[in-house]
Amino acid sequence: MNMNTQSPYAPPPSKWDNLKAEIKAAAAELGIDDIGFTTADPFLYLKNILQEHRDNGYESGFEEPDLEKRTVPALKNGVPQSIISIAVAYPSKMENPPKSEPGARRGILARASWGRDYHHVLREALAKLEIFIRERVPDAVMESMVDTGVLVDRAVAERSGIGFSGKNCSIISPKWGSWIYLGEMVTSIPFPPDAPVEEGCGDCTKCIDACPTGALVGPGQLNAQACISYLTQTKGFLSDEYMTKIGNRLYGCDTCQIVCPKNRGKSWNHRPELQPDPEVVKPLLLPILELSNREFKEKFGTSSAAWRGKKPIQRNAVIALGNFKEAAAVPKLTEIVLREPRPEMRGAAAWALGRIGGADALAALKRSLQGEEDTEVRELAQAALEKLEKLEQQGEQDKQSKLLQAEGDGQA
Ligand code: SF4
Ligand code: SF4
Repeated sequence: MNMNTQSPYAPPPSKWDNLKAEIKAAAAELGIDDIGFTTADPFLYLKNILQEHRDNGYESGFEEPDLEKRTVPALKNGVPQSIISIAVAYPSKMENPPKSEPGARRGILARASWGRDYHHVLREALAKLEIFIRERVPDAVMESMVDTGVLVDRAVAERSGIGFSGKNCSIISPKWGSWIYLGEMVTSIPFPPDAPVEEGCGDCTKCIDACPTGALVGPGQLNAQACISYLTQTKGFLSDEYMTKIGNRLYGCDTCQIVCPKNRGKSWNHRPELQPDPEVVKPLLLPILELSNREFKEKFGTSSAAWRGKKPIQRNAVIALGNFKEAAAVPKLTEIVLREPRPEMRGAAAWALGRIGGADALAALKRSLQGEEDTEVRELAQAALEKLEKLEQQGEQDKQSKLLQAEGDGQA
């Protein structure tokens, strides 16, 4: 049932109905693309789901640990009566993306990190919304949240009618698709709630089928520990399987949103501040390995991809060069495997050299094993070396059999 539909016997709109309508009319001017309202009732169903998620070991570790805080809306200085959910739409397509070519390979940042850091964009929009409400309700208590993990913003957005919860764990708006940033505000005003969106995924399973690591363990169930988006943000060693599956992703993963039919043809370019700089979001890989902390900040500092610093992005760049089998990277990877102080970088470089192969890569791995003391790096270098030696042997055998074959053909 659409809760906004007025029956002839419905009471006349309250002042909160009117204020809500006024806010909705002003939303675009406040920098908000979609806005929905819900009650401040606890998200009771969610607590068990989150607990099960934790028990299964599916959390990323970046979440707020207190499940009570995540499911029971609260206000420090007032009684929570409603939550306002806001959405800001962002682009999913880049105009004239630079080519990634042999000798000039490029990585990619997930779309949610294109343009200006969305935390700032959402915070500014919520601050404007607070001013707008305060001008009309001076004693209102309001608390805004952006990605703090306190409330589950997707659950709030779903209940506020911004969109439905997709099997890929994104909120999918009928208008904007899932290319939206979400933020929310708990208020002491009893705004009437909006109706949730009735659309759903139906029989579609495209996202689950396309996920490279099987991280979508069920419809709307994500094992964050296996999700490439999370893996690209970690700082340590990664398994052979995950390094292969990361491909050239430097930060985040968009696969389960790109394949979603609900996103078809959707890309939002009305905000200049969210437009991607191609050299930042699809950067050349080799120069990333040379960046000082200051240079990293200059290049990536305004993007949300920078929040974990340069270490994960540099490690992922090394992995991407390995996945491209980029021969031009061998000198730099040799330098890393022999001299880089960070073991996870040396390990990734050893792995990448094993993917690229060739005499120089082989020599670098042998030299690394002579001096390397870190057990994990040694294991990666050893595995890479064995792989290359096997390939070399195989190549020798193939050469021999071709030679014999040619000799046999000559005698016939
Ligand atoms: Fe799978 Fe990537 Fe989606 Fe994570 S972000 S669930 S790895 S497709
Ligand atoms: Fe739902 Fe299909 Fe989109 Fe996955 S790809 S979120 S199943 S519509």
